[in-house]
Formats: sequence, C-alpha cells, structure tokens
Amino acid sequence: MSREPPEKMMFQLNLRRRGISEQAVLRAMEEVPREAFVAAADRAHAYRDSALGISCGQTISQPFVVAYMTEQLRLHRDHKVFEIGTGSGYQAAVLSRLCGDVITIERYRTLADGARARLAELGYHNIEVVLGDGLDDPPGTGDFDRIIVTAAIEQVPESLLQRLVPGGILIAPVGPHHGVQTLVRVTRIDSGFERKELVDVRFVPALPGIAREL
Ligand code: SAH
Repeated sequence: MSREPPEKMMFQLNLRRRGISEQAVLRAMEEVPREAFVAAADRAHAYRDSALGISCGQTISQPFVVAYMTEQLRLHRDHKVFEIGTGSGYQAAVLSRLCGDVITIERYRTLADGARARLAELGYHNIEVVLGDGLDDPPGTGDFDRIIVTAAIEQVPESLLQRLVPGGILIAPVGPHHGVQTLVRVTRIDSGFERKELVDVRFVPALPGIAREL
C-alpha cells in the first residue's frame, strides 16, 4: 500500500487521461512501487509524471512513457522479453507483471547490480539482469517475442531485428542522441518488417560498450 494514496490515485488517473486503456497495464503500473526505484531524495516525487535522475547520470523514465511502451508491446503471459537499458529496473518490473520472462541488459555495473538487488528484494523472480552492451551482443541464443530499447538509438540495428520471432514486436526511441526521438514500433511479418512511428519522446543516449566507472 502506498503512503500517499491521493498521489497514487492521481497517478492512475493521469495515465488513463493520457490514453492508457489496457486494464492489465494499468494494474501493473499500480502494483509496481515506483518509490522503490527512484533516488532516496526523490521519493516524495515518485508518482509525478516525470523522468527522474538515478545514478551514473541516467534516468528512470516518465511513467506515462513506461505505460505507453508497455501497452504498445501487446504482451502475453508466455512472452520472453528483452530490454536494453535496465537503469533502475522499473520498466523491467512493469514488464515482468505481464509476460513470462524478462532479460534486461545494462552497461553500468553500478546500475545493473543495484537493479538486480532491488528486484530480488521486491520479489520479481522472472527478471534476469545482465551487465553488457545490448546493442552489440544480445545475451544468450534464441529469439525474443518482444524487444524494448529504453535508450535513444539513431537507427534500429538489423542484428536486433533478426532476434525477433515471427510476429514479434520491437519498440525503441529512434533519433538523435541529444534532442527529440520518435518512438518506433517494428513488427516482424511474413514478408519482412512493418514499421510504425508513434510519439515523440526524449531518452538518454544508448552508448557502446560496458561503461567505465570511476
Ligand atoms: N528502463 C530504465 C530507464 C532507462 S535509462 C528504467 O526503467 O529505469 C537508459 C539506460 O540505458 C541507462 O541506464 C543506460 O546506462 C543504459 N544503456 C545505454 N546504452 C546501453 C547499451 N548499449 N546497452 C545496455 N544499456 C545501455
């Protein structure tokens, strides 16, 4: 239960008002305690509809964008989902309520370790957090039902699209690293890939390699 019911109620209302209509997505957003994923100093603002800073100069995404991307993925209970950009682990937690397994990759060891510990403590047992560069080397073998990129990419790598099952969906913010990107949804169809541009967003950039930390 939340310590601040009115704020959480506004949180749900705001998501609905902005067009999130799938009940399962709204329920997942209600169940995942965002206050556990933000910096201690930001707890009071956890249910505002804005991105917030986390360690390593990165951000936890705006709740509306998390809900929107989740809804656009059209998740099923048996899906295997791959996320690039674990950050706080919040998006992974929301996804995990609606699918079978989440594999999420992060290039900062501090963030990957932090998210792994936080998710375990909160009882999310169907999420695997991997340290690495998700664009260079998606972990494991086999394909994914869904892929979600939560850092800005200038184009969708072909190697990533090739890891989608037939009928699979990828969603990613595509555009310049610093500026406005467009959320793009790519569906793998019989004859290739179908691409749809959704809404404008702002994400921190996807960068190559495991991050060097001081
Ligand atoms: N989904 C996160 C927010 C993502 S912020 C959440 O719910 O909190 C974007 C994250 O992507 C950052 O933590 C950044 O370090 C990570 N990232 C950027 N490029 C990456 C890459 N190539 N591989 C893996 N992670 C990457």
